Amino acid sequence: MSAHAHKVVIIGSGPAGWTAAIYAARAQLDPVVYCGVPKADPGPILPGGQLMLTTEVENYPGFEHGIQGPEMMEKFRKQAERFGTKVVEDDIVKCDFSNRPFALHTGEGKVIHAHSVILATGATANWLGLDNEMRLARSGGGVSACAVCDGALPVFRDQPLAVVGGGDTAMEEATYLTKFASTVYVIHRRDSLRASRIMQERFLSRPNAKVVWNKAVTEVLGTDRIEGVELTDTVTGEKSRLDVKGLFIAIGHTPTTKFLAGSGIAFNSKGYIDLKNRNSYTNIPGVFAAGDVADAEYRQAITAAGMGCQAALDAERWLAASGTH
Ligand code: NAP
Repeated sequence: MSAHAHKVVIIGSGPAGWTAAIYAARAQLDPVVYCGVPKADPGPILPGGQLMLTTEVENYPGFEHGIQGPEMMEKFRKQAERFGTKVVEDDIVKCDFSNRPFALHTGEGKVIHAHSVILATGATANWLGLDNEMRLARSGGGVSACAVCDGALPVFRDQPLAVVGGGDTAMEEATYLTKFASTVYVIHRRDSLRASRIMQERFLSRPNAKVVWNKAVTEVLGTDRIEGVELTDTVTGEKSRLDVKGLFIAIGHTPTTKFLAGSGIAFNSKGYIDLKNRNSYTNIPGVFAAGDVADAEYRQAITAAGMGCQAALDAERWLAASGTH
């Protein structure tokens, strides 16, 4: 065993990464978390992940009155640190899994070594890229990329709401919102939906469902809270205004995997890390994955945390079996 190789390095600092760290630290694996540094492009990416862009989290068990997303991530981090997790505020920008211990290249130009690695870098919601969209998303002003997380908040009750996108996620989120909203508008840039027929019908069968065809959202209106959106017709270029009190962006997610280019890690057809048999093993022995970077389906804090736990347990067993722990 190399004197300079960590037993486990965890890349990523959302619910999956911190939960993996809590379990790995308690198993005395001396985990090191590379928590990342803030980035502005293509959308905001923060250490702590997508919960850093969420206001109230009401569906995570144990917080009966809800908790702010950033505060929740701070609690996760402190819990991991309490058991001895070392946190490095840097990125891993490249991974070489061809030899063991593995070589990981940091954003500051160092190379560190690890006997096992847990990939927990998450996925980022795609945004339209409008200034006011991001500002109101960050301030809790009624713009969100997750209706299941935020849609049940009292502020959206009996209000007109809009969902942007025409895929299954847009249908799922819009259908969910019909339970609370006065009207749910799905704003789509074309004249036909991409979503599966069953998901379309589920939404369209609701009495308060409406589709706004051939429209792009080109401005989000409002100062402290959203008041409406400016629409531009994608066929005629004509501009119009739609008054809504909430805007949910559902135009897909992108898993954070660029740093894995050339590493040999296998991805599934959607570009997410391919997990064998739905446990945390990737195609490379000693490399595990957890959370949204390997999960296009559930994408919840609680499921990511569960996957982080699995990855730490898998890593511990794998290290023991390979004689490293
Ligand atoms: P998706 O299928 O890629 O759909 C994205 C939608 O957003 C498309 O309608 C697209 O328009 C639109 N869009 C993309 N960029 C846009 C932009 N800049 N401005 C305006 N609109 C934009 O993504 P998804 O809906 O998140 O689904 C991802 C995968 O998960 C799919 O395979 C889906 O079937 C699956 N999924 C399944 C379920 C379920 O079965 N319960 C639920 C959710 C997701 P165009 O159509 O014009 O390209």
